[in-house]
Amino acid sequence: MVRPFFTHRRPLCHNVNVPGDSLPSRLAQVRERIASACARCGRSPESVRLLAVTKLFGPDVIREAYALGLRDFGENYVQEMERKAPAITDLAEAHFHLIGHLQNNKSKKAAELFSAIDTVDNAKLASRLNAEGKPIDVMIEVKLSSEAAKSGAAPGYLPELVHAIGACPNLRLTGLMTVPPWSEDPEQSRPYFARLRGLAEDFGLSELSMGMSNDLEAAIEEGATWVRVGTALFGRRPKP
Ligand SMILES: *Cc1c(COP(=O)(O)O)cnc(C)c1O
Repeated sequence: MVRPFFTHRRPLCHNVNVPGDSLPSRLAQVRERIASACARCGRSPESVRLLAVTKLFGPDVIREAYALGLRDFGENYVQEMERKAPAITDLAEAHFHLIGHLQNNKSKKAAELFSAIDTVDNAKLASRLNAEGKPIDVMIEVKLSSEAAKSGAAPGYLPELVHAIGACPNLRLTGLMTVPPWSEDPEQSRPYFARLRGLAEDFGLSELSMGMSNDLEAAIEEGATWVRVGTALFGRRPKP
């Protein structure tokens, strides 16, 4: 997915890559945004967890974030994680979530490298992950838009997929995840967030991974329990 990065900037909120703008200050700003959004809708800030999205950044960035107390990291690519993992084995309390599309043939590596897979979207993949014999937290990625480039399970497939995951003793289904079409205007994401919350309620699932740097407030107002934040914490991503 190609994102027009520069339209993504809003003054005060994500003044990324400004000299002197450090990870500690960006982290404080993100926590402040989470706290204000929670305050506006009467939620406790502890009810929203921050997944630090470190894709395309090196192990040094993960290490710096860990030193500041971050423990949950999101990565998009199995191969990239495989390259970084040897450099961060000492970060004992770090949990890595796979938030990018997982091809069935990479399930073995993914089960080794990640403690959570947030993008399960088919029963075959679930059964392959289960067969690795390791306890893994999973979320179902739901595709709520008609964009051809997006992955995820169609809402109509959820009953079957939830059932299939339920039959996998090594998988713990915690919730649903979605990525709405990118828009500069966070209000455009809100209907997708509301829809995901409704689906999670239908299936009795408690975790909702939704909201990124530009729309985390709307996501929190609609019930997000995880926000996945890259740019607002780490600045513009390096080119792959
Ligand atoms: C890259 C990515 C993010 C982080 O996006 P930012 O806009 O940089 O915060 C969140 N979720 C997914 C699935 C991503 O691929």
